Amino acid sequence: MKLGVRAALVDGRLVPGDLEIEDGIVTAYGILSSNGHGIASPGFVDLQVNGFGGVDFLDADAEGYARAGESLLQTGVTAYLPTLITAPEERLVAALGEIVEGGDGFGPRILGAHVEGPFLSPRRLGTHPPSARRDPDVDLLERILAAGPVRLYTLAPELPGALELVDLLVARGVVVSAGHSDANADEANAAFDRGVGTVTHLFNAMRPFNHRDPGVAGVALARPDVTVQIILDGVHLAPDTVRLVWLAAGGRLALVTDAVAAAGISGDGSYRLGDVSVEVRNGVVRRDGDGVLAGSVLTMIEAVRNLHALGVPLEAALGAATAVPARVIGADVGRIEVGGPADVVVLSDELEVERVLVGGEARVAA
Ligand code: ZN
Repeated sequence: MKLGVRAALVDGRLVPGDLEIEDGIVTAYGILSSNGHGIASPGFVDLQVNGFGGVDFLDADAEGYARAGESLLQTGVTAYLPTLITAPEERLVAALGEIVEGGDGFGPRILGAHVEGPFLSPRRLGTHPPSARRDPDVDLLERILAAGPVRLYTLAPELPGALELVDLLVARGVVVSAGHSDANADEANAAFDRGVGTVTHLFNAMRPFNHRDPGVAGVALARPDVTVQIILDGVHLAPDTVRLVWLAAGGRLALVTDAVAAAGISGDGSYRLGDVSVEVRNGVVRRDGDGVLAGSVLTMIEAVRNLHALGVPLEAALGAATAVPARVIGADVGRIEVGGPADVVVLSDELEVERVLVGGEARVAA
């Protein structure tokens, strides 16, 4: 089957010509064609999705995952990590037990879980409930890891005992991300030297950058071995901050949505993020009461458009939603290559999602 596109994104380059797929596998690209339309990008990979399409993953069952997955596909996401924020152990364990690695065969691929908490800095909790926050606890981490397919773990590496957790996670093949952290530069460098490879929503819920105290954000930007994740919704970061991040860390910048249940459905209203009540107004999600930012209703295609609109070439903006996040967790997705899985999003020249294929199967059709 040929897709009828005019170009495909391969190895960071838009290669002119059509893309061919057989039995779920990409078999050729750059096929000469005179009437191709749109471009084929690898499907988007989102490392941080708390919920989508009205579903909160702390409460989701199989039916909820099906509903959220269907909504995610509409936005071009073909692989993701359901993300569970800080919650009481029973709740977290139950929610992890609902996560089916690989997905249900109809929605996007589920690459595993992203657990964000509860070993976070009490000073940088954002909307995470303080009552469920915990100091590093090896036994608790073991129980969490036993409860489901954990792939990415966000913790505050400066907490006493956190580096032992990092050792355990690395030994189990779980990628560790620094986040909700008050780490100073020395603590951040120690964490990255110990095996922490990435940073969760850079600049948000962490020690602010200061010229004499660059903190975890400054150190992450200065170290070529660290990938940074950002929420590019026009609210979490100022445009100049994003340009600065791009200049420092282009090529190791992963877009995430940090989407909550309200994402993928239109309209303002009240929603839940775990046990936290949040309010969506004009596309901004805030905790009831104090107005602290509580995730987003951003979609991946919007994040790509936002990054491109800031002057980043389209190929690189797409890379930040595909190959880079896939590389963070070592997943074999996010690329178009001969012999690789045909997880593809076809975009119009206006960057609208037109078609989405997972393993060569059309899930969203124009
Ligand atoms: Zn967070």
